[in-house]
Amino acid sequence: MSGFDLAKALTERGALLDGHFRLSSGRHSDRFIQKFRILEEPKVVEPVARAIADAFRVARPSIVVSAAVGGIVLGYEVARQLGLRAIFVEKVDGAAALRRGFALDPDDRVLIVEDVVTTGLSVREVMEVVRASGAGIAGVGAIVVRGSADFGVPTHALLDLPIVSYDPAECPQCADGVPISDPGSRRA
Ligand SMILES: [Zn+2]
Repeated sequence: MSGFDLAKALTERGALLDGHFRLSSGRHSDRFIQKFRILEEPKVVEPVARAIADAFRVARPSIVVSAAVGGIVLGYEVARQLGLRAIFVEKVDGAAALRRGFALDPDDRVLIVEDVVTTGLSVREVMEVVRASGAGIAGVGAIVVRGSADFGVPTHALLDLPIVSYDPAECPQCADGVPISDPGSRRA
C-alpha cells in the first residue's frame, strides 16, 4: 500500500476510537472500530481493497464472496480490482445463505473478504456456505483482525489490532468512574 497509511486513515476518519465502550457482547473495551467510517469513503476503500487484492492475486481466485452488510462494499471493490464477480452471503432465518440467484460453481476458487474479524464467526459461516457448494477457498482477506483468524486457509489481514475487553465488574475505566458509551448505536 505505497503512500497509504491504513492506521492513520482509520484514525483520521474516526474509524478507530479510543475511550470507554460497551461492546455488543456486554464487555467493556477502551477501543472501538467503527468500520463504516472506512466503508463509506471510496477514497479509503480503494487502497484498502487494492492491498487485499494484491495479497491474493497469485492465488488466482475466481470469485469474491463476502458477508452482508459491511463485506458487500469491500468485496465489490476487491472483485472490481481483480476483474472478478462479487457475491455475498446473508442471513435467512438466522442461517447464512446465498440468495438473489447468487451461485458458486464447484470449480470456483473463492476469495472470502471481510472488513473486521473479531470472533471469526461470520467468516466461518461464509466458509460453510462456500464448501456446501463444492467450491474451493483460495483464502480470507480482511482489513482488521481483532481476535483469532485461524481459519485453516491462507489468511491476510492488513492490520492486527487485538481486542482488549473486560468484564464490567473488572473494568479499570468503570473503577475510575469514566462515563461509558455504546458506540454501535450512534455516530462517532
Ligand atoms: Zn467499563
